[in-house]
Amino acid sequence: MILVFKHFFYKNYVGLSLWPFIFLKEDSLKADEVLINHERIHLKQQRELLILPFYILYISEWLFRTVLYLDSYRAYQNISFEREAYANEKDMQYLSKRRFFGFLQYLTR
Ligand SMILES: [Zn+2]
Repeated sequence: MILVFKHFFYKNYVGLSLWPFIFLKEDSLKADEVLINHERIHLKQQRELLILPFYILYISEWLFRTVLYLDSYRAYQNISFEREAYANEKDMQYLSKRRFFGFLQYLTR
């Protein structure tokens, strides 16, 4: 389910997934297939980790990488969940062929 919240977003972020919802900054973003696919990949990751552990791992990995890179944006881009989503967001068939725990392949690169 896709919901639009204009005043919910920080800086240049335009989409956010909190299972089972996708939040977007603008109504027009609903037409952005790549963005929606990116957020759907996160919904799948969240569901397979039973939701709460996803957020714990996501935040832990982000904190760890922030210390590692001393750059919070670079840390965000390199979280394994984000690496998987960015690497496959343009592949509209990705979710139908994705393996369980697909993000693990992106943990080290
Ligand atoms: Zn993402």
